[in-house]
Amino acid sequence: MLLERARVQQEAQVEILESLDVFPSTLPTKRESAYAAWVSVSVGCNNTCTFCIVPALRGKEKDRRPGEILAEIEALVAEGVSEITLLGQNVNAYGVEFGDRQAFSKLLRACGEIEGLERVRFTSPHPAEFTDDVIDAMAETPNVMPSLHMPLQSGSDKVLKDMRRSYRSAKYLGILERVREQIPRAAITTDIIVGFPGETEEDFLETMRVVRESRFASAFTFQYSKRPGTPAAELPDQVPPEVVKDRYGRLVDLVNEIAWEENKQLVGRTVELMVAEGEGRKDTETQRLSGRAPDNRLVHFAWDDTAVEELTPVSGGSAVEERAPASGGSAVEERAPASVSKPRPGDMVTVEITYAAPHHLVADRVLSVRRTRSGDAWQARTEGPQQTGVGLGMPSVGVPAPLPDAPARR
Ligand code: SF4
Repeated sequence: MLLERARVQQEAQVEILESLDVFPSTLPTKRESAYAAWVSVSVGCNNTCTFCIVPALRGKEKDRRPGEILAEIEALVAEGVSEITLLGQNVNAYGVEFGDRQAFSKLLRACGEIEGLERVRFTSPHPAEFTDDVIDAMAETPNVMPSLHMPLQSGSDKVLKDMRRSYRSAKYLGILERVREQIPRAAITTDIIVGFPGETEEDFLETMRVVRESRFASAFTFQYSKRPGTPAAELPDQVPPEVVKDRYGRLVDLVNEIAWEENKQLVGRTVELMVAEGEGRKDTETQRLSGRAPDNRLVHFAWDDTAVEELTPVSGGSAVEERAPASGGSAVEERAPASVSKPRPGDMVTVEITYAAPHHLVADRVLSVRRTRSGDAWQARTEGPQQTGVGLGMPSVGVPAPLPDAPARR
């Protein structure tokens, strides 16, 4: 089929290969979620971290043009998506290919102009290239959520140098300080590798120090293991497994302790959650639903059918406290039904946090429900015929359904 298309259309085969190799999200594949989507802004990476296989696998960074990215987001929003995550190996370098060092902050601000797009997230930034215009854009764009996932990898400057990560711990902590100055309730999460070749006990204690100072909301922690084809796999002084294990256990204990302390500070606070699908493994037995707060914290909340009368569809569309409602919220609220039924994935609920665990929060009472276009999209998908999607270049039968009109950008 592809060969035939290539013969007839000259470039069709190249187009498919390019989409698979360069920007997979440009393909009209079936999305897992009706309400949230990933959008690639770049692929590849110009850095050369010694533990990472990405540069060898994906090559140099390639950036999509902002217009193309925004058009994709608008099309997703038209389908019912209200949360997007901008994706790149190093989003802070976005624009390097077309010579605009502030391209990423401009992209965030442009996302703020898309009607109906309620939540914007991104991953991953690189501390070496993190610039203050990104912090400004995060703070000043209401639909950019107050969360930041920024990989630390190590708190030891020597290990960072061996990893070929070109920032140092002081720079990392300085970025967090400036983020918290402008977005006081930002939840900051990270990645940390323990046991990188040559890591001494002193190096590890440096990591523990930076973790203590950073007050992460959570951290993905990894025990270093060799990746064939990476420079670090050839380094001498590989750390013995029992030492790696011991340090890993101490790090996880500290990360959990801090995450729990940070979560406890949220008890009593009112937050708006986007109801999520498949995030609460025990929801059935606990009679709860689950959602994500603006700062991306996981919240399990009680849903009590007998309390339905007490609930009121909101007209104000509050995001979490001091943050203004995201664009497009009010149009959705006007369509809220007179009586409130069980919120669907993609709908918004406002809850009061009543309990904190290290890795999640619990809310015993829902204050209000806001039915959204995303919830409608989830319902239509769930109740409608199974989507066939597009099978990555495989032939399909029939004419695809037309896309709804994209919403206008303000
Ligand atoms: S770890 Fe991240 S920044 Fe480093 S080479 Fe890999 S993708 Fe690039």
